[in-house]
Amino acid sequence: MGPIGVFGGTFDPIHYGHLRTAFELLQALELDQMRFIPCGDPPHRATPMAPAGERLAMVRAAIEGQTGFVLDERELRRGGPSYTVDTLASLREDFADASLCLVIGMDAFLGLPKWHEWREILQLAHIVVAHRPGWRAPDMGALGELLAERRTAHVRDLHETRAGAVYVYAVTQLEISSTEVRALIRAGRDPRFLMPDPVRQYILESGCYAAKEEDLQHAK
Ligand code: ATP
Repeated sequence: MGPIGVFGGTFDPIHYGHLRTAFELLQALELDQMRFIPCGDPPHRATPMAPAGERLAMVRAAIEGQTGFVLDERELRRGGPSYTVDTLASLREDFADASLCLVIGMDAFLGLPKWHEWREILQLAHIVVAHRPGWRAPDMGALGELLAERRTAHVRDLHETRAGAVYVYAVTQLEISSTEVRALIRAGRDPRFLMPDPVRQYILESGCYAAKEEDLQHAK
């Protein structure tokens, strides 16, 4: 079995920035599969966010028919906020011998030393940093040390070991964010071409990001 990609997010909603990144990594790293893992509803966050069931339905609609893309509901089933290290431990129980590749964006990587039990993460998985072309990797501090020790330029290392390497990969940058997509829909505009059409249909039919009455009155 090839490595398993682990792609967590709020997916509120899922858009082509997520999907293109996942697809490029699936191909470039020769992954067996890419698991999309929507996070639970954080109790401390305010609503304009779609509830878990709707975010799940949108991810399901987005990835349908794409070989290798898998919806993984474990964080939602567990409920509440999940630490990445716990999600990886749970995946490790299911896939004892597989290589796990945790995908994180450049911004998240820069904050890695603040994550709960961050060093444990590399005991459980490789880290794949999806970065912008031209971005310079940190060469100082904890991350500088980590890269000096763990960085590999070889995809085969992700296949031959189960965890512990850091692989940095430039993905095509699509400047789309869920925050902007939600704002656009609330403003009454059409999100067409920012996401697969079934996701757009779901959003329009469920009204999950619809403009609230007070916004429309404000816009008049
Ligand atoms: P929000 O705007 O609500 O913060 P988001 O668009 O960043 O949402 P998330 O669900 O928080 O989406 O992101 C999940 C993962 O996808 C993160 O690792 C994030 O870095 C990555 N990601 C989000 N948008 C893009 C994009 N346009 N291109 C590449 N990766 C992305």
